[in-house]
Amino acid sequence: MERQLKAETQLVHGAIGYDKTTGAVSMPIYQSATFRHPALNETTGYDYSRLQNPTREALEKTIAILDNARHGFAFSSGMAAITTVAKLFATGDHLVISDDLYGGTYRLFEEIYAKYGIETTYVNITDLDGVERSIKPNTKAILFETPTNPMLKVADIARLSALAKAHGALSIVDNTLLTPYLQKPLDLGADIAVYSATKFLAGHNDTLAGLITTNDDGIADALKLIQKSEGAVLAPFDSWLVLRGIKTLAVRMDRQQENAAAIAAFLSAHPEVTKVYYTGSGAVLSFSVRDTAVVEQVLRKVGVIYFAESLGGCETLITYPAVQTHSAIPEDIRRRLGVDDRLLRLSVGIEHVGDIIADLKQALEREDA
Ligand SMILES: *Cc1c(COP(=O)(O)O)cnc(C)c1O
Repeated sequence: MERQLKAETQLVHGAIGYDKTTGAVSMPIYQSATFRHPALNETTGYDYSRLQNPTREALEKTIAILDNARHGFAFSSGMAAITTVAKLFATGDHLVISDDLYGGTYRLFEEIYAKYGIETTYVNITDLDGVERSIKPNTKAILFETPTNPMLKVADIARLSALAKAHGALSIVDNTLLTPYLQKPLDLGADIAVYSATKFLAGHNDTLAGLITTNDDGIADALKLIQKSEGAVLAPFDSWLVLRGIKTLAVRMDRQQENAAAIAAFLSAHPEVTKVYYTGSGAVLSFSVRDTAVVEQVLRKVGVIYFAESLGGCETLITYPAVQTHSAIPEDIRRRLGVDDRLLRLSVGIEHVGDIIADLKQALEREDA
């Protein structure tokens, strides 16, 4: 029944709607590590919170509904979700990965999984021929973000998923930047969608969380085994924070996207700004300034805008990818991609757009030498 509801309503109702025993319209926080068994070989469906917890399960079912997925899983951070996906692979497997992606994901594969013999090739994910040429006999997956972060290039999920399938590989999409409200990777053919729910889904810069969805029962069994064995599960209270955040995702995202479009237009016309990267979708945009002195000045002078890493919250944040989110990526790769020392990234919040633009204007104003 819920599946026929419009997106905005689905977000408010989630999987549970209201609590059927008390009528509570906010999902109760089941702050219990363990659950009493009625008798030998009997269970309420809950045994121990690493395996199942009602509040986490409400979130897992909610993200599944939002992604039109059969299965959802919640983890203690976005990286905990991505590392769970990485554990689907074994020594000798090869992954094709987008060269423009979250620095922490690059670090995970190069500094952790490389030791266990997982091979990687980084490619321009918008170049389908290049992606195809990078596929080897042992390629088991294509992993990418779209739009990419921080260069905001758009990848074709449907064609990349078809390409992966044709080579017996999985397609895995990190959908953190757009969320199911603006893009549903599984509907476009992806096998797995993964999220840092820390960002737009939770939306308030107050918790870390990660989510995974899939329609494949075999993949879901494998993910469940990793989740319960390794234990990087999302705590009940944090599950509740993400559920609460999801209720307002549509109104936040609509406002953030509207603000982002206005800010992109403002920056495009500014003499200190040499290039603006914005796809017109979502609320993350990047821009290059004339030189590093302008970067230093902007980061010192912003006031309404906070100089902090992360994205997707109510607050407008400005980030310097070269030294913050993407510092784990080697300098030569970063420069080739355009993630150089003149690039700034904005995650646009829900404040009044006039205040954000006025703040950027004063921060970019040329200081007399
Ligand atoms: C932040 C982020 C991550 C990592 O998520 P955490 O919740 O910080 O662990 C992964 N992918 C993308 C695209 C991100 O923005």
